[in-house]
Amino acid sequence: MKTIKDFNFKGKKALIRVDFNVPLDADFNVTDDNRIEAAKPTIIKILEDGGSAVLMSHLGRPDGKVNPDLSLKHICNKASEVLGITVKFVEESTGPLAEKAVAELKTGEVLLLENLRFHAEEEKGDKNFAEQLSKLGDIYVNDAFGTAHRAHASTTIVAQFFPEKKCFGFLLAKEIEAIEKVMRTGEKPVTAILGGAKVSSKITIIENILDKVDHLIIGGGMTYTFVKAKGGKVGDSICEDDKMELALEILDQAKKKGVEVHIPADVLAADDFNNNAKTKVVNSDEIPEGWQGLDAGPKTLEIFKEVILKSKTILWNGPIGVFEMENFAKGTIAIGNYIDEATQKGAFSLVGGGDSVAAVKQFGFENKVSYVSTGGGAMLESLEGKTLPGIAAILA
Ligand code: AMP
Repeated sequence: MKTIKDFNFKGKKALIRVDFNVPLDADFNVTDDNRIEAAKPTIIKILEDGGSAVLMSHLGRPDGKVNPDLSLKHICNKASEVLGITVKFVEESTGPLAEKAVAELKTGEVLLLENLRFHAEEEKGDKNFAEQLSKLGDIYVNDAFGTAHRAHASTTIVAQFFPEKKCFGFLLAKEIEAIEKVMRTGEKPVTAILGGAKVSSKITIIENILDKVDHLIIGGGMTYTFVKAKGGKVGDSICEDDKMELALEILDQAKKKGVEVHIPADVLAADDFNNNAKTKVVNSDEIPEGWQGLDAGPKTLEIFKEVILKSKTILWNGPIGVFEMENFAKGTIAIGNYIDEATQKGAFSLVGGGDSVAAVKQFGFENKVSYVSTGGGAMLESLEGKTLPGIAAILA
């Protein structure tokens, strides 16, 4: 795997795909600079080698049209502050204006190109557009995990114009290593904790990880499809009746593969989908009509704790309850605490994909787990076992 460590950038211009798709407030101030921070080590390494950096990114969804509200010029001040160096900006992402700005770029300087998605060609993965982009650097570096699952011009197609001179940045390499640890090289026992709303959105992940894990913890809304499939009463809990057969197949496959599946034994049920609803703890297969399971129960959490604390590699995707409501967040917080404890004892823990990252940030577990993925969709597709086009393009 070629990473940025394999190159010396002295006298070179690096064309770097970063993910600066950051949130802005109404006055165009960056409200969360995590993604800029995440790209910093790569940019600094290039500058310290004696090179210069040409940054390309998308921002929002301008759908192929110029939209001043989504100009990357709004990011320049924050990027300069985070990197500790003035970031120059050019109001184009290809063509004479961009080429001139790159030609004028001196050693140690950083240039940010305009939003790639102002051109429809970017998302179409247009080869001519990618070739235009390729003129803007000597070495191509991909450091945008968040878009690595897209075969766009700047994330994938451009790589073919740098046959020997392409590599992963530090961030993308770290993401790949974290996934490798969970999927292939991690110390046993390996445990996956899958929560979230629906079986249907997690099914491919479940099928793929059954070959990799020793324990599978199921939580969240998915619980009830499994419980009902096994003949339990789930009351008004969220349930996908058309996925019950699939749930039984998963349990059967897990058994054959020697995977221990842990499904909540008791749950915190509510008489309404509402933070102030009446609640009671009930067995997960005896939920009365008019009640719905919205969080894991105390017996369940004890079992989950035991499994998590003996694990050496942990993957967490999806909340264990309706964490957005305070009264149903306890299970998700408890899981975070157990993972924290296991990590302190030496386990490797990866949190990634969709809402689990939001939950982890909301409850302050970000620095307590080994790694929090920066890519929602890209992480989900990796867990599904897909080879991401942005990663394949560097490896080709
Ligand atoms: P996902 O995007 O699939 O990871 O689903 C995340 C969503 O699942 C969150 O918004 C949670 O509120 C929701 N969720 C978790 N547990 C339950 C439950 N028992 N009933 C309904 N929704 C749930």
